[in-house]
Amino acid sequence: MLLKLKYLLRAIILPDRLFLLSKTQKEKTLYLTFDDGPVPGVVERLLDLLDKYQVKVTFFILGSRAEKNPDLLHEIHKRAHTLANHSYSHPEFHKISHAEKMIEVEKTNLIIKQVTGESCTLFRAPQGRWDMHLIFALLLKKITAVHWSRDSMDFLKEPANKIADRFLKHPVKSGDIILFHDDHERCIDALDVLIPQWLAQGYSFSALENKHS
Ligand SMILES: [Zn+2]
Repeated sequence: MLLKLKYLLRAIILPDRLFLLSKTQKEKTLYLTFDDGPVPGVVERLLDLLDKYQVKVTFFILGSRAEKNPDLLHEIHKRAHTLANHSYSHPEFHKISHAEKMIEVEKTNLIIKQVTGESCTLFRAPQGRWDMHLIFALLLKKITAVHWSRDSMDFLKEPANKIADRFLKHPVKSGDIILFHDDHERCIDALDVLIPQWLAQGYSFSALENKHS
C-alpha cells in the first residue's frame, strides 16, 4: 500500500521530466553517473574500463574543467556516453542567488553544445542541493533535475574495496541511479570489482538521455 502510494505520488508530483531520483524499469537496469570531471589522468582510465565491459554511463561534468580539457569532453562524447551538466564552478548552491545558479547552468550547457552540437537537458545540482525555484526554472527550460538513489560514498576517500563492500552489503535494485565521482581514480578500482558482479546478477547498464525536442 505504502509502496503504491509512493509511486502514485511520484507519478503525479515528480514526473520524470521534473525530477529524477531513480527510473522505473521493467528490466534490470542500472544507471551509473559520474560527477565533477573531466579530470585528466582519471577519465581516460575510466573510459577504458567502461569499454572493457561495454557499459554506457552519464558524466555530470563541470564546465570549468571541461573548458580546460575540451579533448576529454570530445572523447566522452565520441565513445557514446551521455554528457550532462553539473554546474560551471561547483559553488554551494544554497549560498548563491537564483540568477547565479541559472548562469552556472547556462554556461555549462553552452560548453556541452559546442562539443556535441546538441542541447543538454540533464542537470544535477552541486552536492544535490535542490530548491523548488531551481527545479521549476529548469522545467521551464525543459531540463530535468537528476538526483541519485544510491550514493557510492566515494567522497569519503576510503579504499576502493570499502566502496565495493558497501554495495555488496546493501545490494542495488533495478532503476537505481548510482552516484560516483570521477575526480579520483578510486571509483575505477571499485567499479572493476562491481561491474562484473552486477553483470553476473543479470543487470545491464544504460546512460540517461538528453531529450531532443
Ligand atoms: Zn559534485
